[in-house]
Amino acid sequence: MRVSPGRARPPPRPKSRAEPLSPSTKLLAGVELGGTKCVCILGTGPDDVRAIERLPTGEREDTLRQIEAVLDRWRAQHTLRAFGIASFGPIDLRPASSTYGYITSTPKPGWKDTDISQRLARRVGVPTGFDTDVNGAALAEGRWGGAKGLDDFAYVTIGTGIGVGSIVRGRSIFGMSHTELGHIRVARKSGDRFAGSCPYHGDCIEGLASGPAIEARTGIPASKLPADHAAWDFVAHGLAQLMHTMVLTTAPSRIFLGGGVMAQSHLFERIRQELKRSLNGYVQAPELEQGLAQFIVPPGLGTMAGPLGALALAADAELRVIKAPIASAATR
Ligand code: ADP
Ligand code: ZN
Repeated sequence: MRVSPGRARPPPRPKSRAEPLSPSTKLLAGVELGGTKCVCILGTGPDDVRAIERLPTGEREDTLRQIEAVLDRWRAQHTLRAFGIASFGPIDLRPASSTYGYITSTPKPGWKDTDISQRLARRVGVPTGFDTDVNGAALAEGRWGGAKGLDDFAYVTIGTGIGVGSIVRGRSIFGMSHTELGHIRVARKSGDRFAGSCPYHGDCIEGLASGPAIEARTGIPASKLPADHAAWDFVAHGLAQLMHTMVLTTAPSRIFLGGGVMAQSHLFERIRQELKRSLNGYVQAPELEQGLAQFIVPPGLGTMAGPLGALALAADAELRVIKAPIASAATR
């Protein structure tokens, strides 16, 4: 799991063992930064959400100021224990990088090379976790939702963009960067001639099946496209190809599909059938037997998976700070 304390200042240690944290007064806060909207959340988990504030993701300075205003208000009313940011990407998660905590090469106009985590961590002054929106949502599913007890699973968002958070052996994957499965190239369904809408790759899966891609290929907003429109076959086929790759790489035992486009619930069954057809019996696992109804599923936390992802990152950031003194004492 990839959470890093905000580096603007070293994370404060818990004051003393004689001063236990009281969940009634000391809360976690988080921000899910999406391509279309931002959700600020205050609480300790799904059963204790004290406040939620949504705002559109607009011009970056204006959006960040609005987020800061919400955080300032919450800090005036409550003591925060930790803070989490689950962001659309790509983001820089390399701890040694001078642009750690930045959104980097996003196609979203005006948001390229934007400091998110260092700036907001400075503002709140508590241990801060930062990760992709999908890694956050996946960690929330593991902590509180439909992946409790699982070590290997994935969360996919199909919304303004497409992103995949893969948890392997209980941790999100990170190498030279976080993974970017939303931009893989997939085999196209025959007859699908849409050029694709990704400014970097054209017909990568995000360019074929994200909400804006569906609108670009049909001229109709994805939310208004009738369930029997032929474009859904192309979308379901493309998404099943993404899942084919996921099954063959990180081998998750469950895949959660969230994001605005998955409000089209007919997509679940179409994707299951396309995936079954595509895998063609090659991978033998109980999870892939029968109709994949337990394998391709909606998030256990529903539409709260994303915002709760930010709280999960906050909880992990706090845990790291609490564990750090124990670890350094152990090596003394
Ligand atoms: P974000 O990407 O900001 O996290 P969402 O996951 O809600 O937000 O994705 C928003 C996108 O989802 C919209 O741009 C739209 O294309 C699509 N969308 C929203 N509602 C629906 C719906 N009911 N059916 C299909 N697509 C939808
Ligand atoms: Zn792309």
